[in-house]
Amino acid sequence: MILYSTKNAHLKASLEEAVFRSLPPDNGLYMPERIPTVSADFLRQMDQLSFNDIAFEVSKTLLEDDIPAADLRALVEGAFDFDAPVVPIEPESHCLELFHGPSMAFKDFGARFMAALMSYFLVRSQKEIRILVATSGDTGGAVAQGFYNVPNISVTILYPSGKVSDIQEKQLTTLGGNVKALEVDGTFDDCQALVKQAFLDTDLNTKYNLASANSINIARLIPQSFYYFRAFAQVKHLGKPVVFSVPSGNFGNLSAGILAAKMGLPVHQFLAVTNRNNVVPSYLDSGAYEPRPSTETISNAMDVGNPSNFVRMTRFFGDEWASVKNHISGYWFDDEQTRAAMRDLHTRTGYLMCPHTAVAYLGLKAYQATASQPTTGVFLSTAHYAKFLNVVEDALGTPDVPIPERLAALLDKPKVAISMSKSFDDFKQYLLQS
Ligand SMILES: *Cc1c(COP(=O)(O)O)cnc(C)c1O
Repeated sequence: MILYSTKNAHLKASLEEAVFRSLPPDNGLYMPERIPTVSADFLRQMDQLSFNDIAFEVSKTLLEDDIPAADLRALVEGAFDFDAPVVPIEPESHCLELFHGPSMAFKDFGARFMAALMSYFLVRSQKEIRILVATSGDTGGAVAQGFYNVPNISVTILYPSGKVSDIQEKQLTTLGGNVKALEVDGTFDDCQALVKQAFLDTDLNTKYNLASANSINIARLIPQSFYYFRAFAQVKHLGKPVVFSVPSGNFGNLSAGILAAKMGLPVHQFLAVTNRNNVVPSYLDSGAYEPRPSTETISNAMDVGNPSNFVRMTRFFGDEWASVKNHISGYWFDDEQTRAAMRDLHTRTGYLMCPHTAVAYLGLKAYQATASQPTTGVFLSTAHYAKFLNVVEDALGTPDVPIPERLAALLDKPKVAISMSKSFDDFKQYLLQS
């Protein structure tokens, strides 16, 4: 796979370069130069295959020039020991549950594959790297779990003290081994500033190979396309056009769906659904992209005012608004509507959703209410509801929402974190000594 920068088509990179750099030197985004399609046989027989069979076939189609098939198979097997099941909810609505991985959120797919891919290249080149990540919650959990015990890689996670949920903090601080958590006396922006400065520091870069696990890394996008194929395989017997409703913040998830469609997955329509941070639904409406500061909502993993994958998403359609609009319909909902949807679906069916999932559910319902033909709707569930327990309890009006065993066990584990000021000198000393 050859990649190019969205800012300069002549600035190219190999897969290995793109994975370790995350961003091209001109601060564009890496895009695949050519998108190969999967075979008609594969699409026909997909419903007989497991998640890993599908992940292998799709990744082989994309990466066969970079990684021999047997190595790729091993890499996929190492990355994924969890599935992406589709659960029927109502006659025309199905939930794609993406929370069966180690951190119980969809970011596990990206983090696990990126970790496996980086490790594969590092073992071959006999290098070691040190990953630095700043997190406001969910990304850190997925990265910590994704890179845990992965050879040739150590991970340092910086999180703002007192500003992540209990479950999120435990996911960052209870692993040990090659994962170190730094509890920073500051905000998420302070954490991010420390990481940025570390990448510019000569002493640190002389001593270590530093890398980021940035969400726009191409190695996180590729594996997210796998579950669109896997979902389609589970609903294709219903025989109706398939629509995917994607709860969106930085639009990596939706961009991966578009990648799947470009590879030949016959998707009828994508729904880009947001909370009040609705710059993309507005763009789909008017053609004008107007980023603005984000506002806080109960679906806070989607509180994004200037989505980092916007340029990638539109590039898939040659930057043509009319073409983007043809394939993607935009919707947005406020917190009141989101809570009502969580409550209403639970009352009618017993199914519990996290607030992000509820936003996608609402988008699907709005689309199907006016669609010109019956469709099979698949709404993506990006996190287990128990990761947002307070919001769910508040929406349902009860403190008795059950927590799965895995999360409950996590809450009992002791937290291990290193306290850190927000001064760069302290952070640098820590890194140089550890
Ligand atoms: C990150 C996240 C999202 C948003 O996904 P994007 O790829 O940034 O659009 C939605 N829901 C949850 C639970 C998340 O953690």
